[in-house]
Amino acid sequence: MIKSENDYEVIIAGAGMGGLSAACFLANDGYSVLLLEKAHAAGGCSSSYFRKGYIFESGATTLIGFDDNQPLRLLESKLGIIIPKEKIEPSMTVYMDGKKIIRWQDRKKWIREIIKHFGEPAEQEMFWKLSYQVSDVVWKVSAKNNFFPPIEKRDWLKLLWNNPMDVWVLPYAFRSVRETAISMGISNPDFFRFLDEQLMISSQAPSSDTPFLFGAPAMTYTNYTNYYVPGGLIEMVNTLTHFINEKGGQVKTKEGVLSIDKDGAKYKVMTQKGREYSASAVISNLPVWNMGRLTSGDISEYFYRESSKYDKAWGAFTMGVVTDDVYPGDMSLHHQLHFENDAAGVDGLDSGSVFVSFSDNNDRIRAKAGDRVLNVSAHALPDYWFGLNGKYEAVKNRTQDAIIELLRHKLPGFSNATIKMVFSSTPVTWNNWVYRKKGRVGGIPQSMSRSLLNWTPNQTPFPGLFLCGDTVFPGQGIPGVTLSGFNVYLRAVKHLRNFSNH
Ligand SMILES: Cc1cc2nc3c(=O)[nH]c(=O)nc-3n(C[C@H](O)[C@H](O)[C@H](O)COP(=O)(O)OP(=O)(O)OC[C@H]3O[C@@H](n4cnc5c(N)ncnc54)[C@H](O)[C@@H]3O)c2cc1C
Repeated sequence: MIKSENDYEVIIAGAGMGGLSAACFLANDGYSVLLLEKAHAAGGCSSSYFRKGYIFESGATTLIGFDDNQPLRLLESKLGIIIPKEKIEPSMTVYMDGKKIIRWQDRKKWIREIIKHFGEPAEQEMFWKLSYQVSDVVWKVSAKNNFFPPIEKRDWLKLLWNNPMDVWVLPYAFRSVRETAISMGISNPDFFRFLDEQLMISSQAPSSDTPFLFGAPAMTYTNYTNYYVPGGLIEMVNTLTHFINEKGGQVKTKEGVLSIDKDGAKYKVMTQKGREYSASAVISNLPVWNMGRLTSGDISEYFYRESSKYDKAWGAFTMGVVTDDVYPGDMSLHHQLHFENDAAGVDGLDSGSVFVSFSDNNDRIRAKAGDRVLNVSAHALPDYWFGLNGKYEAVKNRTQDAIIELLRHKLPGFSNATIKMVFSSTPVTWNNWVYRKKGRVGGIPQSMSRSLLNWTPNQTPFPGLFLCGDTVFPGQGIPGVTLSGFNVYLRAVKHLRNFSNH
């Protein structure tokens, strides 16, 4: 078959961690890959940007996934690369009701810490031991069941064949974290407030609405090895884009996809630069709710139908702050600060807490000596921010002030710090930044209402058209979308083999 220079085996729309991972695996196998990214830089919600001499993270700040059975270890080992990173400990500190709760990675030490703050020793011990156990199984099972949710008969057979020893965890898909804790005798309401805010940053749903099966890895992510990337997560992203280029793939930034259409047995992809590309397979790294607009006919209808299942997804209010480095030397890099009355009453936030991450104090790429960069984030409702019209700037300033006030009260050292720079982003900003419809970020909440098998599959009903990223299984977070990139790579390879046999 004669190929034109605009003809590829695979085109990937979106260079978030999902699209980047898929592109790496495909390029590593020698497939011709074109990765198209609308923004000026790759990485999407897990990247970094430069502003007035400092480097801020775009969204994600915490990084796990390099332990046994975890997706970034798989990425490194399959590709033979090392992502630049440093271990951090402790993983996080939580400030609530005057308590300073340190999320130690050591599993026994963490159980001692939680008992120190919330009592009920026997019950807590049982709860966390079960959480570790279920979490380890979930990582193991998800590493070996790449065709999930099952679509074809063969996927179902594999699923049943692969996991005979692990089916005991399945009932936890139908029992919430809260129910599980209560069934073990835990009753302290403060503990549930603690758990709710922890789960909101990982499963995106409170303990009463997170199935224990997903809640266990979400609650215990601080008990796996946590990392910091010197220079910011853009260094992880750069490692992957260099790899793709080295293997002969192409990454084109500032070239957004305008449309994806079926063209005989192939797909035709039009971009904002007026170029037309074709490919045997297309993988979209865009949220499922972005896809209806980019496609037409049956394909578009399919995506509108799928995204109508997920009308609720979170947005984020985020802040970049630079201060002088006046913080305690032994301070962790990540902090969760509870508002005094949990119901924060802050316009524009739908969150009982705020998450703050620091640049490492030795990281001279992100901040000059004597300064620290802080990334702050909290949950927000996109519809609220899109409906503010003339009041938008005033509300944004008020929200920012309320968060600064909270930092002054709760974040050690901050009250003595000189603020050298501060700016905020809302779901409106996110919409214009990573082009996710309505600025919805963080994927789809892993809630009880969402049955395990009801995820949008990464394989669409249209042969050769696939999805990855945080709106398909296994959902949000860098490890989650990296796994989605690996899973979709396996699906795409299967398709490409069939395609070339025809
Ligand atoms: C504030 C915040 C904090 C977070 N904290 C953490 C954390 O600490 N740890 C963690 O693991 N996870 C965290 N997450 C979640 C994590 O960042 C995301 O789930 C993950 O990065 C999403 O990756 P993705 O590949 O699915 O999508 P994205 O990162 O959204 O990538 C999609 C890409 O597609 C591009 N694009 C959009 N439209 C087009 C188009 N038409 N054509 C071409 N390209 C297009 C976008 O520009 C973007 O680069 C956080 C997220 C947010 C928002």
